[in-house]
Amino acid sequence: MAHPHLPALAIHGGAGTIPKAALDDAGQAAHHAGLRAALAAGFAILRAGGRALDAVTAAVMALEDDPLFNAARGAVFTEAGSLEMDAAIMDGGTRQAGAVAGICGPRNPVLAARAVMEHSPAVLLAGAGAEAFARSQNLVFMPESYFETARRRAALALELNRRAAGLPDTRSDADRHGTVGCVARDGAGDLAAATSTGGMTAKLPGRIGDTPIFGAGTFADNGTCAVSCTGSGEVFTRFTAAAEIAARMRHAGQTLGQAASAVIAELSAHGGDGGLIAIGRDGAPVLPFNSSGMYRGYVLADGMLHTAIHDEDYSSQEAPI
Ligand code: ASP
Repeated sequence: MAHPHLPALAIHGGAGTIPKAALDDAGQAAHHAGLRAALAAGFAILRAGGRALDAVTAAVMALEDDPLFNAARGAVFTEAGSLEMDAAIMDGGTRQAGAVAGICGPRNPVLAARAVMEHSPAVLLAGAGAEAFARSQNLVFMPESYFETARRRAALALELNRRAAGLPDTRSDADRHGTVGCVARDGAGDLAAATSTGGMTAKLPGRIGDTPIFGAGTFADNGTCAVSCTGSGEVFTRFTAAAEIAARMRHAGQTLGQAASAVIAELSAHGGDGGLIAIGRDGAPVLPFNSSGMYRGYVLADGMLHTAIHDEDYSSQEAPI
């Protein structure tokens, strides 16, 4: 997959996939279409000579706007029935970074994260302060009803009933969590990563996952790789999943593929389920996961869009941009 000096981009729509048996043809088609739209939005920028930073922003915005994925519109609820979103973006060339946590209001939380990076002295803003900052940046705000979906309400009710009855957790990945993310390398060789999430269904109010924590769920460094993670955020955070991949490359001389697989194995051994997308200096993406699936896709310089959900071959879903 290596294309030196050529643009490349990978996305994920989270490890919270609907089980294969429960995803009918229409559902499959809708998810593939959402992934393709995000790939196309990001790749159009790269193909026109644009920056990786703008490409990951555009791809994540497309996934945030799509209610099928757990980010912005379609976000999961906290146990109190509120919506609290996390998002992050990082520029691998400058190591500039910005993130927001526990917010509800900006239509595209990734734009709030980017504003933190570009227009504030902070790296991470949370809650009311983050929302006030986003307003001061004239970002588009939406009422809570815009983000809410019946499917996520049902998932919350299911989990609250389960807890009240003291039953074991047999929920599908789709009812538990999800996230969206993008990594890219542009024609100048710069890397970038962005991630956005509603978090875990029925999470504690105030809980912040791995997504806005640099080195955990999001990371970019031109010297090694750009990474965006999805899965059980507490484990990804405790094992600094994204930074560990970069560290293995930098200090142990591992390839991106070796480092990413080793980190997924380490997460698995400690009860972490999920996956990640990463792209290295050579522009070759990797998209490993240990969950039942991960909505995902990539596009290389030839402009062919590759998407997959479970363990099927990418070639079954190829489309030109
Ligand atoms: N990692 C996210 C979080 O813990 C959830 C996910 O990716 O499914 O907030």
